[in-house]
Amino acid sequence: MEKAFTPAEQEKGLYEFWEKKGYFTSEKGEPYTVLMPPPNANASLHAGHGMYSVDDIVVRWKRLNGFASHWLPGMDHAGFETQYVYEKHLKKKGQSRLDFDRKTLYDDIFSFVKENSGTIYVQLKRLGFLADWDRSTFTLDDSVIAHVYETFSKMVKDGYVYRDTYIVNYCPYCGTSLADLETIYVTRIDPLYYIKYGPFVLATVRPETKFGDTALAVNPDDARYTEWVGKEVEVEGLLGTFKLKVIADDFVDPEFGTGVVKITPSHDPNDFEASKRHNLELKQVIDLTGRLTDIAGPYAGMTVSKAREAVVADLHEKGLLEKVDMEYEHSVTTCYKCGRDVEPMTFPNWFIKVAELKQKVKEVVEKDEVKFHPAKYKKQMLQWLDVMHDWPISRQLVWGIRIPVWYKVDEAADNIYVWWLDGDKKLQKGSVASFLKNGVKFSEIEDGLQRVMAQTGDSAPKYVISSEKPSGDYLPETDTFDTWFSSGQWPLVTVKDGEHFPTDFMGTASEILKFWISRMIMFSLYRKKAVPFKDVYIWSLVTDAKGQKMSKSKGNVVNPIDLVDQFGADAFRASLMFGVAQGGRVPLSVEKVKAMRNYANKVWNIGRFIMMGRENSAESDISQDHIQEVTNLKLEFETFKKKFVKDMDAFRFQRSFDDLYEFLWHRLADVFIEQLKDHLKSGNIEVLDALEKTYSECLKLLHPFMPFVTEAVWKEFYGAERSILDERILSD
Ligand SMILES: [Zn+2]
Repeated sequence: MEKAFTPAEQEKGLYEFWEKKGYFTSEKGEPYTVLMPPPNANASLHAGHGMYSVDDIVVRWKRLNGFASHWLPGMDHAGFETQYVYEKHLKKKGQSRLDFDRKTLYDDIFSFVKENSGTIYVQLKRLGFLADWDRSTFTLDDSVIAHVYETFSKMVKDGYVYRDTYIVNYCPYCGTSLADLETIYVTRIDPLYYIKYGPFVLATVRPETKFGDTALAVNPDDARYTEWVGKEVEVEGLLGTFKLKVIADDFVDPEFGTGVVKITPSHDPNDFEASKRHNLELKQVIDLTGRLTDIAGPYAGMTVSKAREAVVADLHEKGLLEKVDMEYEHSVTTCYKCGRDVEPMTFPNWFIKVAELKQKVKEVVEKDEVKFHPAKYKKQMLQWLDVMHDWPISRQLVWGIRIPVWYKVDEAADNIYVWWLDGDKKLQKGSVASFLKNGVKFSEIEDGLQRVMAQTGDSAPKYVISSEKPSGDYLPETDTFDTWFSSGQWPLVTVKDGEHFPTDFMGTASEILKFWISRMIMFSLYRKKAVPFKDVYIWSLVTDAKGQKMSKSKGNVVNPIDLVDQFGADAFRASLMFGVAQGGRVPLSVEKVKAMRNYANKVWNIGRFIMMGRENSAESDISQDHIQEVTNLKLEFETFKKKFVKDMDAFRFQRSFDDLYEFLWHRLADVFIEQLKDHLKSGNIEVLDALEKTYSECLKLLHPFMPFVTEAVWKEFYGAERSILDERILSD
């Protein structure tokens, strides 16, 4: 054996050996399937992806215990995330998404993603993962799209899908609506403006939305305003005098401002709900690019912030601004991606009715048919399910699976509004009817299409659900599915018909518990009447050495591949396991990875020492007395192993690794080999056999954590064509 284990020279060859020998799949034994959470296809691996090691540990551990373990990998197109990354590239070139028709933009992002996912696969292999790469799935594969369409059609038929003009969170910068989970509340100090509204004064932080007001509201118990309820008041505004009705509604907080509020249903979720209760009109003041619409008169076309400035100045000039409270603290909803303010907007969206579906998820979670590790996540899941609302699945993005709906364009097509690029690449917006009337050919609209927005309710156009374009004049829905709508079906699109299902193990990060795990259970119960997996293991969060979350803005991001290059994949993987409290954060430091590299070398050197003893044994004397230390070693190993196996089977990997680290180095090497050194040197067969057996058993236990060094030693001991993956851990 060489003096030391050199990962840079040996890992590649060992991985190729596994590939050549077909260890990525196994037919021998009871099936055990692990699903890989598909990494996003838009970036390189980050340190957090190192926790995929947990899944690899499970796959290898089960294999060594006689199971036909099978790890199914893949890649997620990550709709919003990827389009956001791609748009940043465009911005650098002075371009934006609005410069392209849908098809061109989609094809360009596809090329970008293909190139990038190749890099990610190479990186995952560098970490030693025993995944069945031939079975990789991409969430935009034809088979996945077909499955997603099937699910959607079935849900439409079963009445779980509806289309409605509803208030949604919309980010004008990112150009898409967002689920509640994709928004972040921040507390901020903003000016609160007190504006004269006819006989009242009312307070608002958003005076620029006043053109969309459709009522005034007070609390029904507020005695100050009882006489006004139900009456219309005349209001002098910036665009002349108009009338507003006063309504009474419990949602108004009499303590806020003066106790009177304006109702702007199109741009405030509470006002929207109130408008439904009181049958009020919707008036859209802000458009999808974040600018004021025509109903704002001279302010039309201004951005929200510009319009606010102008409106406040004009109110002041007209004597309509009573006062301003500059220190008003309130909660603002922002986009989780770009950090800008979310605009609540009303426009048509597709929704999933979740009440019934989530009830079924609750039942299987409560009964532990899906079991969470650590157990605290069960409670979190149940709490989330309690507050889960209907799910808006429309995203106004190009990158994703288009919702398979086609709107019928008949002569009076003023209920379909379109954005499209004309022959000169100029953006045109308006109703289809208006364009057709002006001599635009239908095919021109189709070719340059960016966005279709069809009305809902009584004036909604007819539509058909189909993956292909129906014959006749139809325009496609341009909204794509929320990316979780497709990745939520991951267990259904990765496991083939007739294969082992439910799968067994799903390891993932805690931040996607609600987005992803809940949806996978939901879709699996819906389509297969079975849970998708039996155990959910939530990975620990990988942080920097000080326990701080890694982020580009903090500049503390660690590239896992750099660490693998320097110290080897085994060392990197082990550093995520060693000295970590079960379920706690994983602080990652170069020192720790270095220490694990030293440990890999220690493991190698123990083997080398035993090997040298074996070489001496040729001239050994076998008629020696029994040695007590050998019995002690066997007993201690058996006790240790029992606990180790128990912890591994209960997914307590970090504890198992710590115990094994301790046993191999500080018991086997420091104590037993030290005590038996002289017998070993003199070639005592009993000692040699006992040490070799214990050491080999330890290598098998260590293999899931440090696959490369253990396989390398195995070959030194038993021959170049042998693999430790063919061994089994015997429980006796
Ligand atoms: Zn945004």
